[in-house]
Amino acid sequence: MSRVYNFSAGPAALPSEVLEQAQAEMLDWNGTGMSVMEMSHRGKDYMSIAAKAEADLRELMAIPDNYKVLFLQGGASSQFAMVPINLLNGKKKADYLLTGQWSKKAVTEAKRYCDVNLVVDTTDSKFTTVPDADSLKFDPEAAYVHYTPNETIVGVEFDYIPDTGDVPLVADMSSTILSRSIDVSKFAVIYAGAQKNIGPAGLTIVIIREDLVGNADSSMPVMFDYKTFVDNDSMYNTPPTYSWYFAGLVFARSLEKGGMATIEEVNKRKAAKLYQAIDDSAFYSNPVDVKNRSWMNVPFILGNADLDAAFLEQAAAKGLTTLKGHRSVGGMRASIYNAMPEAGVDALISFMQEFAAANS
Ligand SMILES: *Cc1c(COP(=O)(O)O)cnc(C)c1O
Repeated sequence: MSRVYNFSAGPAALPSEVLEQAQAEMLDWNGTGMSVMEMSHRGKDYMSIAAKAEADLRELMAIPDNYKVLFLQGGASSQFAMVPINLLNGKKKADYLLTGQWSKKAVTEAKRYCDVNLVVDTTDSKFTTVPDADSLKFDPEAAYVHYTPNETIVGVEFDYIPDTGDVPLVADMSSTILSRSIDVSKFAVIYAGAQKNIGPAGLTIVIIREDLVGNADSSMPVMFDYKTFVDNDSMYNTPPTYSWYFAGLVFARSLEKGGMATIEEVNKRKAAKLYQAIDDSAFYSNPVDVKNRSWMNVPFILGNADLDAAFLEQAAAKGLTTLKGHRSVGGMRASIYNAMPEAGVDALISFMQEFAAANS
């Protein structure tokens, strides 16, 4: 068996050791004689798995006690609706920071529920920068402020957490959660689809300050009310049991490896060396403002787009796969989430240098 270095943006590479553990436990979890996939979510075995996953995530991210952690379905895209449904609380407007394709989708969805004020709109820069913190003018009457700390497609990231005063701050952290330590208390809601930096698709994590729960209008579907899940420990209906279990294995493994401080250090180094290789070469380029370059998603363009197909083919032959850039950007994109070993980034850099030398 040989595993490639998979640079997919999502669903993305998962840690080999965790896949192996899941494989070892596949047919018989802890002497129960059944797979986790076959367990009732209400049984004591599964309840213990679920509770440990939450406890480990709380420890990993140092989530304060006045925050609830929810394990939902529907993807980050459902949160584009759940956020306004739950946070408007009688208000009619919200502030949005539009810095890429994902925040644009969030804006489009929010417009179904409220007036959206665009505090930032970087469309004209092709989403390659983020304005400075002190240039942002928030509306103190807004129900909340929504932003996307890391935009997965262009690879553009905020280098600060916006200061919104008393207005609740909501972050779509789908592609940056667990990439570094963050101060959760600065946020009202953090949400993330699991399939980038957590585990398998099908699970969506929501971390919400508890005083913000319980304000959805009763005309809304129960499945879109955070309170439904807070009151039932995310088990109002059948949760995505296997993805939740797998995410738990990833959290436990992350703690064993030294927690966020260690993970952050490795991620910073991986990104720095890849951008350095791009900048050192006349053959490759990345258009994003240096201060806003993503640690997780690294797009790069070849000087000659006619060589894209050859690059991808030769990379794949070396076990470096899924490097094709998003169709809206072109070129290449290397997503280097936590599960991408530093050796994978080193192998990519070596290949890039060889390819540039052979084709310059
Ligand atoms: C992938 C992604 C989404 C969409 O996630 P789904 O779980 O597919 O709905 C939303 N926001 C960001 C930042 C993403 O990277």
